Amino acid sequence: EPEVVKVSILNEESIILGFHLTKFMLRDILSNIPSSTYVVITDKNIAPIYLSKIITDFEKVASKLNLINTTKLRLITYIISPGEQSKSRDTKAEIEDFLLGKACGRDTCILAMGGGVIGDLAGFVAATFMRGVPFVQIPTTLLAMVDSSIGGKTAVDTPHGKNLIGSFWQPKRIYIDLMFLETLPEREFNNGMAEVIKTAAISSELDFINLENGVSSIREAVFSSPKRNVQYQGAILATRTPSQSLLLSVIMTSAKFKADVVTHDERESGLRGLLNFGHTIGHAIEAILSPELLHGECVSIGMIKEAEIARHLGHLNQVSVSRLYKVLQDYDLPVSLDEKKVKDLVGKKFCAVDKLMEIMKVDKKNQGDQKKIVILSSLGSTYEKKATIVSDSVIRKILSP
Ligand code: NAD
Ligand code: ZN
Repeated sequence: EPEVVKVSILNEESIILGFHLTKFMLRDILSNIPSSTYVVITDKNIAPIYLSKIITDFEKVASKLNLINTTKLRLITYIISPGEQSKSRDTKAEIEDFLLGKACGRDTCILAMGGGVIGDLAGFVAATFMRGVPFVQIPTTLLAMVDSSIGGKTAVDTPHGKNLIGSFWQPKRIYIDLMFLETLPEREFNNGMAEVIKTAAISSELDFINLENGVSSIREAVFSSPKRNVQYQGAILATRTPSQSLLLSVIMTSAKFKADVVTHDERESGLRGLLNFGHTIGHAIEAILSPELLHGECVSIGMIKEAEIARHLGHLNQVSVSRLYKVLQDYDLPVSLDEKKVKDLVGKKFCAVDKLMEIMKVDKKNQGDQKKIVILSSLGSTYEKKATIVSDSVIRKILSP
């Protein structure tokens, strides 16, 4: 039995964290989400590394539970191309046609194994297939572990914008298996750290200090793991190292904060808006600089700008802004649109202040014409328990060079 940590969301202990959870997960799913067809939806980067183990473990666990022969039971898989372009109505329809072609009915359970793209897409398929079938999140990116797999928001993109067609559909379980991080590209790991830092900044000074002090330990847990080191390939992590324990507690804390917010505000009225710290400006930057810059990278720059707005308004001191700046830099995240790393990535694209203001004007979280920003009052707390209305002139002033 692997050691696991459980976190509640919407009054159920459905978030499970640990290392190497595949068998544990399959036992739990087969016992508690009985279905005749389980469908793993994943992408071409993840499938070659992780799919065969899921398939062989499924056979083993099913036979241990005496489910073979007694019921018509099967595991089928569907692999899509990686990337945001796959989060489309077309791919959703393709998956649905595949499921219908395989005669999947209402006793189908969908397992979304991947990053936020897979989670949002497969979750939306689950939400509407046969008017809704159960699904399970198996996040494989840090961003998906601490953010997108939690909260039940599912969606696809359209040419008019991201996430415009979707629904709320809660997964039955969320298995956060940190083993997946062993193969995650470093830039994707840093991308997820932006959300972890964001959560600490709005919720807990102690968590923030842990991140400040844990930089090398957290990196070691992820980047010196067996799969990255040929010498150790095939080795099993029998015991958890101190750095792995730190990584687990950091991810658990971040996931738990989002789970608690969702529990109190499932449909996003006030409280859930706190999670948008760095995102009002970050999303506007992302609208211009995506796909060259990743979401977390844009949010990182957005957090600095929004913290500067808080300081300008007299709610946050300069020391706090500097600490936020330093921790983001320590996790290799960009802190300004002017830094070389950003310029090298985005080439000729640039963010004119007018353009950023224009994009923020149509944010669906605005109150009428007024823009809302999460204002920090210190590292670990916010000025209000929701986003605060900020005047255009203040935003413009801080964005201007
Ligand atoms: P992603 O799903 O595109 O994954 C990033 C890349 O990493 C992909 O190329 C993927 O193939 C690869 N990958 C994933 N896991 C891997 C692993 N373990 N080893 C090696 N490679 C791996 O990106 P993401 O950042 O996870 O998710 C972004 C999406 O999440 C966006 O579409 C965004 O809108 C959505 N999102 C949703 C919510 C929500 O509440 N539903 C919240 C935040 C973001
Ligand atoms: Zn985000």
